[in-house]
Amino acid sequence: MFSYSSIDAYHALLLAGQVSCRQVVEHYLQAICAKKHLNAFVDVYAEEALQKADELDLQRRQGKPIKSLHGVVVALKDVIAYNKHRLTAASKILKNFHSIYSATVVKKLLQEEVIIIGNCNCDEFAMGSTNENSFYGPVLNAAAETCVPGGSSGGSAVAVQAGLCMISLGSDTGGSVRQPADFCGIVGLKPTYGRISRHGLVAFASSFDSIGLFAKNVHDIAKVLSVIAGPDEFDSTVSQKNVEDYTKTPISNKKFRFAYFQETLQHPVLDSEISSSLQLTIKNLMHDGHTIEPAHFEYLDYIVPAYYVLTTAEASSNLARYDGVRFGYRTEESVDDLTEFYTTNRSEGFGKEVKRRIMLGSFVLSTGYYDAYFTKAQQVRRLVVEKIESVFKNYDFILMPTAPSTAFMLGKKITDPVAVYLSDIFTVTANLTGCPAISLPLFKHSNGLPFGLQLLANRFNELSLLQVSKQLLQHS
Ligand code: GLN
Repeated sequence: MFSYSSIDAYHALLLAGQVSCRQVVEHYLQAICAKKHLNAFVDVYAEEALQKADELDLQRRQGKPIKSLHGVVVALKDVIAYNKHRLTAASKILKNFHSIYSATVVKKLLQEEVIIIGNCNCDEFAMGSTNENSFYGPVLNAAAETCVPGGSSGGSAVAVQAGLCMISLGSDTGGSVRQPADFCGIVGLKPTYGRISRHGLVAFASSFDSIGLFAKNVHDIAKVLSVIAGPDEFDSTVSQKNVEDYTKTPISNKKFRFAYFQETLQHPVLDSEISSSLQLTIKNLMHDGHTIEPAHFEYLDYIVPAYYVLTTAEASSNLARYDGVRFGYRTEESVDDLTEFYTTNRSEGFGKEVKRRIMLGSFVLSTGYYDAYFTKAQQVRRLVVEKIESVFKNYDFILMPTAPSTAFMLGKKITDPVAVYLSDIFTVTANLTGCPAISLPLFKHSNGLPFGLQLLANRFNELSLLQVSKQLLQHS
């Protein structure tokens, strides 16, 4: 039976003829079938994946050299466009929408010979932290099936966690890769804003959205990032900076400078066991010869409100296109005029959380409230950016929890959206500032569930972030 550990080990097996891509795809299709109740996938491309596997097997037999992601079985979050495949953002409003082009990330992955096995369930339009806001129903956490997997990229996280693919892509606007990675006990990276093209990513809040990666180890993430990062003529916000080889081996025993914010570790929302595990890690890092010092983050309690004002404002504008004319679901009710047509399409097509955000976003942008909310939140964002930049003048990384608690029971917070919003307190800083951040599966709680540690680095410092992550995971 095939058992996956890393891309490199898998390639060694393929090249030694010990396994074929077809066998591997069959293995994953069986696993997806056996774990169907987890609800991680929206669509599974079984026939296509097998066909691609046969093509790759033939190429290898003919002696063609393999590309860096040859035969790697990948799943996409249902917000990433793949030509001629369904793209629904887990929303009724896009129920029957098929993409007419592929996202830049998808093209880059295919050039390196991946096998795309399906698209994954998520919160509708990537809005949420539990995956309970999906048109397709919730995803179950494979570590405890009565618990949420986190969100919004819950399906992508569970697909990796439960061994239903090797690598998956998600999107992270305020924590949607790192928090489900934390809840599922896997690695989740949100790269620098602008490191990866957003062309073909369904827009939620365009100045925050980043495509992110899930894997079981850091080296796999580094390999995939090296492929999907970089300039793109279809996204003017993407950086022109050269893409480094993110797999480069770190200088062994390199010593780093870490900062941590007292306010995060002492925050009343933080589970005390998570806090003490992080404090122990701080001691261990010090003991290993790293510099690790406390710093202050006086804006901690302002970042969630600022994030929700700005992202809902951007979302209300981005989602205006789903009106049943240009895009989206059309009502079957008979309507009298165009306004009623739009209203009915949108009322029937969007779920509750998306509607809540569109209304909030329209409110904070409305005349009379614009300065009090939108302008104010932008000012907070600027202060947070300046603060974090000042910290990175003296430190390489900022250490934080990823989430205030471990995964909780399905349904527990569904009626309290504000409580769910507040649980984004440790993840939104990286999105407000555009910094890269990673969640590393280092711990297990006494309740039996995994949780992670989050590290933030300065913009475009993915290489050192991945290198230190490898060190931390090796020593754990
Ligand atoms: N939980 C956050 C929200 O609901 C983050 C979402 C995301 O990163 N896509 O907005």
